[in-house]
Amino acid sequence: MKLTNTLTMKKEELATHEPGVVKMYTCGPTVYGRAHIGNLRSYIMEDVLEKALGYEGYRVDRVMNITDVGHLTSDADTGEDKMLKGAKREHKSVLELADMYTKAFFEDCAKLNIKKPDTVVPATTRIDDFIGMVQALLTKGYAYTAGGNVYFDTSKLERYYVFGNQSAEDLAVGVRDSVEEDGNKRNKTDFVLWFTKSKFEDQELKWDSPWGLGYPGWHIECSAISVRELGEHLDLHCGGIDNAFPHHTNEIAQSEAYLGHPWCGHWFHVLHLNDAGGKISKSKGAKLTVSLLEEKGYDPLVYRLFNLQSHYRKPLTFSFESLDNAAQAYQKLTARVTALSKDGEPDMGAAEPYIERFKEALGNDLNTSQALTVLYDMLKSDLTDATKRWLAGDFDRVLGLDLLAGKGAESAQPVDAGLAAEIEELIAKRAEARKAKDWAAADAIRDELAARHVVLKDTPDGVQWHIEG
Ligand code: AMP
Ligand code: ZN
Repeated sequence: MKLTNTLTMKKEELATHEPGVVKMYTCGPTVYGRAHIGNLRSYIMEDVLEKALGYEGYRVDRVMNITDVGHLTSDADTGEDKMLKGAKREHKSVLELADMYTKAFFEDCAKLNIKKPDTVVPATTRIDDFIGMVQALLTKGYAYTAGGNVYFDTSKLERYYVFGNQSAEDLAVGVRDSVEEDGNKRNKTDFVLWFTKSKFEDQELKWDSPWGLGYPGWHIECSAISVRELGEHLDLHCGGIDNAFPHHTNEIAQSEAYLGHPWCGHWFHVLHLNDAGGKISKSKGAKLTVSLLEEKGYDPLVYRLFNLQSHYRKPLTFSFESLDNAAQAYQKLTARVTALSKDGEPDMGAAEPYIERFKEALGNDLNTSQALTVLYDMLKSDLTDATKRWLAGDFDRVLGLDLLAGKGAESAQPVDAGLAAEIEELIAKRAEARKAKDWAAADAIRDELAARHVVLKDTPDGVQWHIEG
């Protein structure tokens, strides 16, 4: 499997420490709000990666953290605590908030056929490990205490690794973005390992530590969880591109200083999903969620297909027009598979060249659009229906598009049952209002339906409706 390695910016064969086994770590969500479809772009592509590795025959040991403590609004250890801010907004405790949005995250993932990693670790459950790692870094001379906090001393490293040959100093200024500087830091690129001098009087979650009551910095969780769960050598580390600096840079600094040897050989970064306003981000209060797509009548797998149609190393622009194109493509594709006859046995000899081409596309830097082309070519070919159906199911182990679920036979826009019930209720209310000659109320309901892209048609058999894609 060849993948672009952000360490070298080259397409490289993935090397594993143990033959046939990939140790894969993924930075999980910060659970202070619902994931937006930008976050989910990263998780869709990482899911395809895991499944493509499985398709190639690897066993994948995959671990994901859940950030439920320590992530401040600026990646450079300044600003407010994201979890605390979210908890105040929603009148909940930090742990209630974390629990609610962790569940919501995995619900969204399930709708997108994103497999939950075997091991998922909330940061707050590993505080002892974090303290142990910070202590070791202090003992080894890679950390110092100042103003009550513990900092990583980046000047002690032989090399403070920054992806893409950019200057850490330039980037550090970039992430600081007019937020106040921390005067305790000896070097601009130093970062917090453990906070005791909390800037937040009302910080909810605090733990005893050798440096006083406090809480961890953001980066330590991924180093500590990864080393504990996957060992001293990691094969593959994933995340969205905004994680590359400073988060991944600092993970490398901590892990290698702690272990005393190189840590992770391959870094996989997914480029951003943007919309007309630029990068879609949670902190800007992005409203583009899986639930919104469902409310508008899209099958979440249409969004999965939308992502598979382009390459993970290119930024992707979202618009409802392009999602509509994906919806049409999805409908056609599933209809085509659904129409295949269920009779007969597959001809494995005839299937083989398509399997090879499919593997080749995925092995070429996870070229998912090329993999889809192989699927389309296969469906267009003169293979028997039984062979086509078998191959569609086989490819779907990676694509995750529910190709064999019998979709696409009737409606172009399958509508979620809950939403359909809501729409039916509004239509009934509108009929009542009309009966009572309450035209204002009837019009208001029609407008409400229109805002949800529901188109009504009065027919002799009653009102018919559909959602306009
Ligand atoms: P967060 O919940 O903010 O910690 O982010 C979760 C994941 O989503 C991280 O891997 C981020 O790098 C990634 N991410 C954030 N914004 C986007 C975006 N607009 N497009 C793709 N990935 C993103
Ligand atoms: Zn991480």
